[in-house]
This record gives sequence, structure tokens and C-alpha cells, in this order.
Amino acid sequence: MSYLFPNYGRWPIRITKGEGNYLWDEAGNRYLDLVSGIAVTSLGNVPPQVKVKVQEQLDTLWHCSNLFEIPVQEKLAAKLTSLTCGNRAFFCNSGAEANEAAIKLARRYQQKVQKQNRYEVITFEQSFHGRTLATLTATGQAKVKDGFDPLPEGFVTVPYNDAEALSAAITEKTCAIMLEMVQGEGGVHPASPEFVEHIKALCAEHDLLLIVDEVQTGIGRTGKWFAYQHYNVEPDIITMAKGLGSGFPIGAIVGKEKLAEAFGPGTHGTTFGGNPLACAAGLATLETIEENEYLARVEEMGAYFIEKLNRLSEACPDVVNVRGKGLMIGVELAFEAAPVVAKMREQGILLLQAGPNMLRLLPPFTIEKEEIDHAAQALEEVLNATAQTV
Ligand SMILES: *Cc1c(COP(=O)(O)O)cnc(C)c1O
Repeated sequence: MSYLFPNYGRWPIRITKGEGNYLWDEAGNRYLDLVSGIAVTSLGNVPPQVKVKVQEQLDTLWHCSNLFEIPVQEKLAAKLTSLTCGNRAFFCNSGAEANEAAIKLARRYQQKVQKQNRYEVITFEQSFHGRTLATLTATGQAKVKDGFDPLPEGFVTVPYNDAEALSAAITEKTCAIMLEMVQGEGGVHPASPEFVEHIKALCAEHDLLLIVDEVQTGIGRTGKWFAYQHYNVEPDIITMAKGLGSGFPIGAIVGKEKLAEAFGPGTHGTTFGGNPLACAAGLATLETIEENEYLARVEEMGAYFIEKLNRLSEACPDVVNVRGKGLMIGVELAFEAAPVVAKMREQGILLLQAGPNMLRLLPPFTIEKEEIDHAAQALEEVLNATAQTV
């Protein structure tokens, strides 16, 4: 019997140790980690360069209220603004909190700075933005909302990559558009460049803010620091979390200078957000990506992995489609993905699902070609075996 609420469908393995691209369970079995804690441990498990910096911070200062100036938080903010089109940062503890902050900032900017009664946020079908009441309302998936009525007002969901539907949803109450550049939980769907151009034009025409949810795609996952940088667009607010702290809980938003006025003293806050330990982990993560030129590596390994999977799809008719950007990869199957995930786990390889028929692979940036070869080979065998039983 477990004393935990049963709100996760947990896999029946007990993980006790991680190192580099591998995890170990209590019984000592080793697993190749293509999950990375859902795009969190992007530098591998317990990355040495981050560990050293967190240990230094552990010896110096653990926590400090945001009533004080915190140098390491300032440093991380400076770094993040240098990597994005944003000028100001706010730190929190998770992806949902980052999106919550973005929604609050967008509304407050429209209402207090622009002096317009605008509050509606347009989001997209199959999107995922988090589990707080506002962010689950923003999420375009019914299962996430089931049983949580009444939901907050002011959210409208339209089909993804559908310019006409988006245009039709804009009213005088529209405040912002919030999107994932590549939908993660919703099945690894990239936004089309034409759709992003359309969004850009609509935001300019109607004075809307563009919020890009980079909680999963950010911090190098797609081969650029942020996925919006694959497109010709500058969001007003970028949200991030998962990969930022290498496993240390931290979330952030980065926004344009014009928004600073909307978040004056006392408007928003959190006790733990921007905690020195979390910021030290974040700063070390960004420095490690830079020093090791991991963005180029993500591009290279992602292309290599996708090429392997494309070859597999030619040989295996049950692979319907392979898509992705960098090391965020989806493999769409002709049948349920769950048994494939379970059989891969039995083979010592961990991967994820994203929707009923979709495998999702989020390997660490440190993945090696031999490990990709091994995973592709195992997947081919598992798919062939599974196809015979369904
Ligand atoms: C995971 C995720 C979130 C929620 O992040 P939490 O840290 O779980 O609150 C929000 N948006 C996207 C795109 C995500 O992938």
C-alpha cells in the first residue's frame, strides 16, 4: 500500500540513482534514459558542472527572501535576457507558475498600462500549459479539466495551425495569444511558419501580446536556446521551466521592457521563486550548454536520431510518422503506444507517450550515437513483436 495519492499512473520501477544518460532502479537494473525527467535533466543525470556550482551555493546561502537583492538571481536574469528578445525576468518554481505569471502580466499590462478592459487569452487545441486552475483552463485538452468546474473565465481555445479560426476568435476582449512552438504533451506538433507569421500580424494589428510557452521546448531542447528562434518572431513573454535547472525546480518568464510597468512592487510574487540554490543551478545549466556547445550537439544528434527513425519507418509499416525538432522527437504508431513503452522498459530503455498512439523521445543532450543506434534497434524489434500481437 502506498501513502501517496494515486494521481499518477506510475511505472512499476523504483528509481534510486542517476548518472549521465542512465538511471538505475532499486534492484540494480540500468535503463537508458530517453525521458530526461520529461525534458528536465537535459544535461544528463547529476551533471558534474552543475553539481559543483550547486554544492558551492549549498555552502554559502540556501534561501533568501525576494525582499532583498539576490546577486545570483540578477546574474541568471541577465543571462536569460541575453539569450532571448526579452529584457526582464521573473522567477518561480514550475512551468504552471510561469504560465500563470505570464497570463497575469498580460492582463495587468492591458488593463493598467494600456487602460483597456481586455482579459481573454486565446490558446490552442491539444496544448498543455499546466495544472493550476488558470493554466488547466488555458490547456486545450478536455481530460485535464474534467471534474474541476467551475473554471476561471477569459480563455478561448481554437484549432492549432488554423489561421482562419484564430482570426475569427479575436474580439475587443482579447488580451493575448499563448502558444507552444512545438506542442509537447499534445503529440510533438510544430507550429507552421505561415501560422506564426499570421499570429505576428494579428498581434500587431490588434495590440495583442504574444506569450510563447517554452516550458518544454526551451533551454536548448529543439537545437536553439528557445524554439521561437526557429521562426521569424519576437514574443512579448517567454515562459520556461523544465530544462532550466537540470532537475532543480525553477521556472521563469522573460518579457519585453514595456511590460515592466505592469509588474510593479507588490503585484506578483512567490516565496521560493528565484531562490539562490535554484538560480545557481539555472546559471550553471546555461553556462554548461554554452561551454560544451550543446546546441550544435542537439541539432546533430536530433538529426541522427530522426534519420534512424525514418529508416525504421520505411522498414516498419506500423510507424505512421516521425517528427520533431532537435531532441524533441515524436514517433506516431498505427496502434497504441503504451505496450511499446512497457516493452522498451523491459529492454532497459525509458521513453514517453504523448497521446494514445504517439511515442515521445526526449533524450539528454549528452546522448551518444551508439546509444541512439541501440535504442532504434530495440524499438524495431519491439515494434515487430508488438505488431504481431495487435
Ligand atoms: C510541463 C509543461 C507545463 C507545466 O509545467 P509544470 O512544471 O509541470 O507545472 C506547461 N507547459 C508545457 C508546454 C509543458 O510541457
